[in-house]
Amino acid sequence: MARYKDEQCRICRREGQKLFLKGSRCYSDKCSVSRRNYAPGQHGQKKAKLSEYGTQLREKQKTKSFYGVGERQFRKYFEMASNKKGITGENLLQILESRLDNVVYRLGYGVSRPQARQLVNHGLFEVNGKKVDIASYLVKPGDVIAVRENKKDAAVIKENVEANATRPVPTWLEKNVENLSGKVIKLASREDVDIQVAEHLIVELYSK
Ligand code: SF4
Repeated sequence: MARYKDEQCRICRREGQKLFLKGSRCYSDKCSVSRRNYAPGQHGQKKAKLSEYGTQLREKQKTKSFYGVGERQFRKYFEMASNKKGITGENLLQILESRLDNVVYRLGYGVSRPQARQLVNHGLFEVNGKKVDIASYLVKPGDVIAVRENKKDAAVIKENVEANATRPVPTWLEKNVENLSGKVIKLASREDVDIQVAEHLIVELYSK
């Protein structure tokens, strides 16, 4: 079990940056990236030079881990992004930001994306008054996301609201903590994405 708990921190260490997969620990000095900022494993402290392909691959893996998306779904998002007007890499990040589990996390009703996904899967949220328990559901401008009436007293929601009281909510969302809800004002733009990612490398990788 202990090994499993460390698994998420190992992902961050491999990518060399915080991916915020564990809630309050990520913001504390117990964060493994703050304490040991080198890759896990016996040879983790040796800096290996990556090939062009390796660099592109790492960028994709990091982004997948950050949003908790599997390869098939990520590929599907890339195809959606390619078919949209605009810059494919930025479209891809916008689609990832629009996932319901990410929105729940961004609004502060989940302490991490993995936990937000679990809460959505367990049916704690609704969109525009209808229960939605699909973490990959993509929100649109105008959508209202809320904790369902019969879940508003859930201890986990109360704890999360308290724990995230000072975490900023991005400007593309509007939080209403009294109603335990939030509204999508517009879709996220590139500057709203706080992961250090060179999305053009992902585009290059998939364009081979
Ligand atoms: Fe672990 Fe969170 Fe730090 Fe990542 S950011 S290493 S998940 S504590």
